[in-house]
Amino acid sequence: NAPESAAEALAWLVDKGDRFGLFIDGSFTEPGNGLESMNPATGEVLATLTVATAQDVDAAVAAARHALPGWAALGGHGRARHLYALARLLQKHARLFAVLETLDNGKPIREARDVDIPLAQRHFYHHAGLAQLMASDMPDRAPIGVCGQIIPWNFPLLMLAWKVAPALAAGNTVVLKPAEWTSLTALLFADICQQAGLPPGVVNIVTGGAEVGEMMTAHPGIDKIAFTGSTATGRRIREVTAGSGKALTLELGGKSAYLVFDDADLDSTVEGLVDAIWFNQGEVCCAGSRLLVQESIADRLHDKIRKRMEKLRVGDPMDKNTDIGAMVHPVQRDRVAGMIAGSRGEAFSAGAVPEGCYHAPTLITGLAPSDPLMQEEIFGPVLVSATFRTVDEAVQMANNTRYGLAASVWSEGIGRALEVARRLEAGVVWVNGANMFDAAAPFGGMRESGFGRDGGWEGLRDYTQPNVSGAPL
Ligand code: NAD
Repeated sequence: NAPESAAEALAWLVDKGDRFGLFIDGSFTEPGNGLESMNPATGEVLATLTVATAQDVDAAVAAARHALPGWAALGGHGRARHLYALARLLQKHARLFAVLETLDNGKPIREARDVDIPLAQRHFYHHAGLAQLMASDMPDRAPIGVCGQIIPWNFPLLMLAWKVAPALAAGNTVVLKPAEWTSLTALLFADICQQAGLPPGVVNIVTGGAEVGEMMTAHPGIDKIAFTGSTATGRRIREVTAGSGKALTLELGGKSAYLVFDDADLDSTVEGLVDAIWFNQGEVCCAGSRLLVQESIADRLHDKIRKRMEKLRVGDPMDKNTDIGAMVHPVQRDRVAGMIAGSRGEAFSAGAVPEGCYHAPTLITGLAPSDPLMQEEIFGPVLVSATFRTVDEAVQMANNTRYGLAASVWSEGIGRALEVARRLEAGVVWVNGANMFDAAAPFGGMRESGFGRDGGWEGLRDYTQPNVSGAPL
């Protein structure tokens, strides 16, 4: 039923006039000067968006400021009612959200339907529950105020949920900017805020690119910036906010190591790798993009990986059998292709790749640990591999990175796996698994992967400050 679903999503766009204004103070503004949102799989323009001006950002911040006392005064139970209403509407419109996400981002419909959208819903349900517990479990905390939230294009609705749900649960109001390539599900979410009867100004959505993000980070009316995106932009945001007194959390890039020991179950290791690096075209901040394998099993593992790669189906994101969809944008496809051109390793690419905005799944073996491809984030379906001999060497290689987002250890010796896991310098470490998320589990990095957490009590706490007034949360 894929075409029918696409038609449904497009009907929503057409019903809205397929030109979108900004969502400020509970309603959409008149569409202004344009930014085109494109389906990367077809090149078709899906909708025209508005690039927010400085006045628009001022208006969004003013609406959020105005809504703040009323929203905070609702208390945890009052806010939970609204979060449950948003969660239920996300569930009701799950299919529309999934199709719109796939059309806008290029990710396989199966992933949007089974991962992105259900996880986004769960984030709202979970934080509705946490909001109810705040008065008893966090009586000494108060909201921070108006939060500016800036998110990337790889999981558009899910990143929105990671940011908006805890901010609202803790009593803050929000001005959110989705990424310029993928704003449609954020605009559909605005629609849902209206349907849910969320008080005007509690959530405001402004569209546009880096310049709009800069206006937000420099805005004196914003109390906290929560950012997910590249390490370079994170650095820029630290510069702009320096000395401003704004609270800040940064979820940035990664080069997560996937350590495979000689006693690992190689078949499940390979399936784990499919999740680790070929999920979402490898456009995943915590992708297991750096394979470190014990020398004695390296050839066997690489052979198994190559065989499995041959079975990956690259193509139409709307096809339910597709494993790897379109890259988000031709610019990103070319960036990935450019990074790996002329690699010093042995490259293997698999599968018939259609013309257009696609990149073949690729494995590059025989790289030195210091090779730029072993150190730099590629953010595409490219796995790079190096070998180690001993546990100590494995740990040393895994930690030899400027990032520290995630890691994964594969061994049937659970004692060894846990010992290695404890020695890895990363915000999240999985054992015999990869890319597993839960709204209750805090996610975030260290070093140049950023600081602060999304999810769980830890993430919620990042949206609070000490309660000096004594008013209940
Ligand atoms: P990006 O930094 O280019 O853009 C992210 C967002 O920041 C976009 O909304 C963009 O418009 C905005 N932006 C760009 N320049 C800005 C500026 N100067 N000031 C304020 N805002 C600005 O990143 P991207 O290419 O969209 O996303 C890919 C990156 O995001 C990767 O590095 C990936 O690892 C990272 N990421 C991290 C996580 C995490 O949780 N750690 C999750 C997803 C993606």
